[in-house]
Amino acid sequence: MTETTSRSFASLPLSAAQLAVLQQLEYVEMTPIQAATLPLALAGHDLIAQAKTGSGKTAAFALPLLARLNPRHFGVQAMLICPTRELAEQVAQELRRLARAQDNIKVLTLCGGSPARAQVNSLEHGAHIVVGTPGRLMDHIERGSLKLDGLNTLVLDEADRMLDMGFFDDIAWVASHCPTGRQTLLFSATYPEGIAKLASQFLRQPRQVKLTETH
Ligand code: ADP
Ligand code: MG
Repeated sequence: MTETTSRSFASLPLSAAQLAVLQQLEYVEMTPIQAATLPLALAGHDLIAQAKTGSGKTAAFALPLLARLNPRHFGVQAMLICPTRELAEQVAQELRRLARAQDNIKVLTLCGGSPARAQVNSLEHGAHIVVGTPGRLMDHIERGSLKLDGLNTLVLDEADRMLDMGFFDDIAWVASHCPTGRQTLLFSATYPEGIAKLASQFLRQPRQVKLTETH
């Protein structure tokens, strides 16, 4: 990163309310991956972002999707795919913290190991954001309980781990059921071959950001 790149969240096109929430959470300045990706993602570009664990990748994809969320529209506007239930719960928790600036944003986790029936009920009541694991997301799309016509952001988190776990075809299936005009944000700690294949099939002119260990 160059010296001139601002690390201040205030340099971004975020609402005053969102900046206040970041301050409350004691997010004083952007981490390097946030500083490198947030301006691009907020401008609407698809992204392939690579940075190590603990570098702050969640806020890097959460802030752009929250910025364009319409709280008055009770339909799924963002879907986040994670490798495990535990990671999906963590991402959902961070999203709920960052979403405090807006009223009543509903974030729903859709993972295996919980009864699908209860999830169908929750989806019927309306959710703005869903975070889930590939198999259960596929189930809900297939049943018609998860409708994706209002989706504007698709996030693939820990994409390298999902590929390690053999989820390529499931992710491809889910992505092929999303509206084509969406923004797709792919985050990963490493860059195995399958990532380039996923990106070439499901991202549109992605910007690539890679931070090395020294950051
Ligand atoms: P990653 O997904 O890259 O492993 P996380 O998004 O889980 O990283 O972030 C790691 C930790 O850093 C979390 O506890 C998160 O709340 C915190 N964090 C993220 N961004 C900032 C920031 N700009 N300032 C302070 N803490 C941050
Ligand atoms: Mg993460």
